[in-house]
Amino acid sequence: MSPNPKSMSDGVVTRFAPSPTCFLHIGGARTALFNWLHAKANGGKMLLRIEDTDRKRSTSEAIDAILEGLTWLGLEWDGEPVYQHARAARHGEVVEQLLAKGLAYKCYATPEEMEKMRERAHGEGRSAVYDGMWRDRDPGDAPAGVDPVIRFKAPNEGDTVIEDQVQGTVTVANKNLDDLIIARSDGSPTYNLAVVVDDHDMGVTHAIRGADHLTNASRQAQIYAALEWETPVFAHVPLIHGSDGAKLSKRHGALGVEAYRAMGYLPAALRNYLVRMGWSHGDDEIFSTAQMIEWFDLAGIGRSPARFDFEKLASLNAHYIKNSDDGELVNLVRAIVPELSQEARPPNSDDEACWEKLALAMPGLKERAKTLIDILDAGRFVFVSRPLDMDEKAENLLDDEARAVLGGLLVSLEGVEDWSVEQIEYVVRGYAEKTDLKLGKAAQPLRAALTGRTTSPGIFDVLYALGKDEAVARIRDQVR
Ligand code: GLU
Repeated sequence: MSPNPKSMSDGVVTRFAPSPTCFLHIGGARTALFNWLHAKANGGKMLLRIEDTDRKRSTSEAIDAILEGLTWLGLEWDGEPVYQHARAARHGEVVEQLLAKGLAYKCYATPEEMEKMRERAHGEGRSAVYDGMWRDRDPGDAPAGVDPVIRFKAPNEGDTVIEDQVQGTVTVANKNLDDLIIARSDGSPTYNLAVVVDDHDMGVTHAIRGADHLTNASRQAQIYAALEWETPVFAHVPLIHGSDGAKLSKRHGALGVEAYRAMGYLPAALRNYLVRMGWSHGDDEIFSTAQMIEWFDLAGIGRSPARFDFEKLASLNAHYIKNSDDGELVNLVRAIVPELSQEARPPNSDDEACWEKLALAMPGLKERAKTLIDILDAGRFVFVSRPLDMDEKAENLLDDEARAVLGGLLVSLEGVEDWSVEQIEYVVRGYAEKTDLKLGKAAQPLRAALTGRTTSPGIFDVLYALGKDEAVARIRDQVR
């Protein structure tokens, strides 16, 4: 990429810069969402940079999962992803520039010397470790046959100040920041140097990222200043904590985005959930994507860590499921089936007729589901084939008396010509009244015969979704 000095008049450019050492986890997804929203809210662009300089820990599976996760969440980036590793030559060029200008120098400190410096700094309670031993030394002193690291000549006096959009003014005394290594002895650039060069060349105007990068930001600001490049606006977002306030772990929901997809969460629900992780707009909880874009601003990001709450995510998901179109839900459920384990997959899932039945059952199913998996589970009855496997409770329920009820209902239902929920209800209720049965006494045997279970969606919906032939045949199977 050719250097493209940034200018604010070019508009807002944000970037999401994940390290592909693990999949797209929930914190990363939120960072991506905030960058995406800030770009969209300002008519700008969000770029994607894969920070794959750690060759040992970066994997192509993680890169794929990040790209797929972002796409699934609807967070499309602009242009082609930039791979940081591929830009090593450009990073080296900037290191050379800094050396040439006397803003960086070669350091030959031995591991033993470094260890002594560490001990001393530790003993004196200082955060700056490196004592600058090669900073002003004559290069003629360089030992033969040793490849040096390159260190940035950081200012010793004064302060480095960042006006962070979330954290406010962050001031670090320069004496607390030692001379950072910008290139290792093998010539490879280090993280902070690469980030500065890439953000500059990509024309990034706003770096929105986790607060764990706040210390890096001061380092980076010093490098920007030395290069006389404009520093992007920083916004360091507090990290997400678990519901108990502890650092987010797997137990709390720190899973990859693909795990949420497989658990049956809708992208719109996850987006809505994530936007509220640290950002607020009054007391609003439910946001359409258009509203998020309209209202998002960095000023709305709070300074205290958000807590991850599975219950809240599930109830938002239930809301989005309830308000989704039936056909769309069928497609979403279908899309996750291949990702489920063999046991979790419904039988006959390649049979088109089953999916048509699921669509007929959807109005009832979506009322009670918190996830797409709930829909699949409660709707399993449309996939199973005759003769049905009965669970133990259903088997026990179908005693002689219940089977006799089924015999009577069978005759009534066989007579239904217009197989609609209303007609079915009319006939079943009529049968119960005629035989002096409570509705439940008729519904429970039907439920067992039609689904093999004692819990199911509304019984009239079940009968309707199965269609007359299949429903009647399942009932007949249980009439002895
Ligand atoms: N690659 C870093 C990470 O995944 C982000 C760096 C940045 O946003 O500046 O945490």
